[in-house]
Amino acid sequence: MSAAEAVTEALRELHARFAPLGEGSVAEYIPQLARSDPGAFGLALVSMDGHRYGAGDTTVPFTLQSVSKPFVYALALSLLGLDEVGRWVNAEPSGEAYNAISLEPDTGRPDNAMVNAGAIITTALIPDTSGAPRFERVLDCLSRFAGRELDVDEQVYASEAATGDRNRALAYLIRSTGPLPVDPVAAVDTYFRQCAVRATATDLAAMAATLAHGGVNPLTGEAVVPGPVAAQTLAVMATCGMYDGSGDWLLRVGLPAKSGVSGGLIAVSPARFGLAAYSPRLDPTGTSVRGRAAVGALSEELGLHLMHNPALAGSTVTLIATPDELPTAGAGVPRERVAVVAAQGALDFTAAERVLYALDEARPGGTEPVVLDLTEVTGVDRVAFTMLSGGLGRIAASGARTAVVDRADRLALPGPGEPGGPAVPRGFATRARALAWCTGDGPG
Ligand code: GLU
Repeated sequence: MSAAEAVTEALRELHARFAPLGEGSVAEYIPQLARSDPGAFGLALVSMDGHRYGAGDTTVPFTLQSVSKPFVYALALSLLGLDEVGRWVNAEPSGEAYNAISLEPDTGRPDNAMVNAGAIITTALIPDTSGAPRFERVLDCLSRFAGRELDVDEQVYASEAATGDRNRALAYLIRSTGPLPVDPVAAVDTYFRQCAVRATATDLAAMAATLAHGGVNPLTGEAVVPGPVAAQTLAVMATCGMYDGSGDWLLRVGLPAKSGVSGGLIAVSPARFGLAAYSPRLDPTGTSVRGRAAVGALSEELGLHLMHNPALAGSTVTLIATPDELPTAGAGVPRERVAVVAAQGALDFTAAERVLYALDEARPGGTEPVVLDLTEVTGVDRVAFTMLSGGLGRIAASGARTAVVDRADRLALPGPGEPGGPAVPRGFATRARALAWCTGDGPG
């Protein structure tokens, strides 16, 4: 057994545990969906490195139905921006069933893009040009999220188109109050095609993983939507993705998710993985019974609840040496002594705050020269860059020699001999050189 087989084993165990659940029934209001195999059950997971795992029916195709909604919402957001999309569709949980008339009384704006009314408008907002017809854009986007070309189950599409009067009625109702930019029948038709796009549980897990990975598909490396759009989409999934059970789901499971009446369910663990379940037996809210149980158990057992211990970073500062703790160099000749702080790992806001605090601890007198060693740092994000540049700049401006050790020069500092003035921190490739400069021995 390979080592990574352990992840597959965990999914197999969940699959075996919840396969006996026989409650719920297959959706019948779309006649073709009534033909789904009630016994089908698949679980799939895609990691941020694009590693795929699965158990059970992970290659059985089924239609996305409402699982398509967050991805088309993401497409609309990336084409039009949150402000424009927000003029048409609100972002409040409706607390009502997916097919309810969840419209704001005065404006007719639907409550959110995860209920049918909001999803019909969201789809209608996608530009429709002769070079790039609306549905082609939708299908192309869903395919990029999945990392392979998806297609439409024409039978399910035809079945819903023949029976979907409630959705057509919803569209007419929305247009009667204002916010529908296109013909209601055409709008609903594109929405039905979108719902009938066919994918497997593994595809769904890849789609979810793309949202978890800041909009970049971990299988193909393609940036499908910008990072902020992925975050906005996850926010709406967290508050509105699980029909009228969204609040309870966020409370108990704590992951952005979306379910669909075909039995598909995706859940996103941001920066960790995308998860998908397929099992067509639905509970009264329209969510897969086994899918809900398996995702809920996984979240609990792996401690994935978003509000649980949010991303407590590992240790950042590996050394804080005040000048008193460092041996003085040279035979009996006291030199100006230097404080040293060393850090490791990825520097974000939390880590940068620790580093700045450590710099102060290392300089109890507030006047000592200091070396910050970033050799073991793996990354400096935009926020940490600004914070560290600001903090080190303050020390240098107060007159203390300030040196940073970083071969990659991620703080973009001038070297010892370069222009910049005495009040600017300097960059060095080794700690020895930085110390030498700080004690007045090195060039500068
Ligand atoms: N096509 C379905 C409908 O509009 C999607 C519903 C769902 O999956 O929640 O009724």
